[in-house]
Amino acid sequence: QPILSLRGVTKTYASQNGEATQVLGGIDLDIAEGEFVAILGFSGAGKTTLINSVAGLVEPDTGDILLRGARIEGTGKDRGLVFQSYSLFPWLTVEANVALAVDAVHKDKSKAERGALVKQKVELVGLGHAIDRKPGQLSGGMRQRVAVARALAMEPEILLLDEPLSALDALTRAKLQDEIERIRKEEGRTILLVTNDVDEALLLADRVAVLTPAPAARIGNIYDVDVPR
Ligand code: ADP
Ligand code: ADP
Repeated sequence: QPILSLRGVTKTYASQNGEATQVLGGIDLDIAEGEFVAILGFSGAGKTTLINSVAGLVEPDTGDILLRGARIEGTGKDRGLVFQSYSLFPWLTVEANVALAVDAVHKDKSKAERGALVKQKVELVGLGHAIDRKPGQLSGGMRQRVAVARALAMEPEILLLDEPLSALDALTRAKLQDEIERIRKEEGRTILLVTNDVDEALLLADRVAVLTPAPAARIGNIYDVDVPR
């Protein structure tokens, strides 16, 4: 059984002038446990709409999104999302930013367990030395690492990455790509990445799919591409 399944997922937005824009035209997608799938698409193709639907932030018009066979309901700790641009609280330290998420989703864990989980994930992303800093004292790459640590600390079934490296310079991006590969090997977690960076998709993913932009011959469909290894 796939860990994540999308079945006929559609989404149409109404624009200000009353016209409707269909963004997702019936997406079918299966992701196996432990798989790293990248979805490639140009800007405006619907990547964020797709990943936000999986995250539970966008409600599809029709279709089903199943996590281990059960329909998702809203957001949940089973799906950890990393946004395009840093979504950290500037007045909180790295530790407090991650702890906020951990405290919210791991109410079953003791305070000591939650604290240990925060430290472990911050160290995993290589920021042990910066755990007491605030986002303003971090580089862009470091801030995205905090966002990754925060998502991992939720211990999600699937990690959702929405162009997490697109706002970074080329060198920082390359470093973070290496980090994501290392983290993936250490944690063995299922990952869904959406990106417009072909090289990044081919470098990181086991499987690449292309999301065609609307309006196209087939709107908002997904085509699998074989990645030679
Ligand atoms: P991508 O992430 O691939 O750039 P998006 O999912 O952000 O694509 O957007 C796809 C299309 O849907 C774009 O044309 C965008 O303008 C439109 N869109 C996205 N969100 C909304 C919204 N909340 N309301 C109306 N149109 C939207
Ligand atoms: P990254 O690849 O994570 O973006 P950088 O190469 O930008 O990291 O930074 C390398 C080191 O320089 C970091 O480990 C950090 O200690 C320090 N550093 C970078 N930017 C800042 C900043 N704005 N404030 C404080 N320290 C910084």
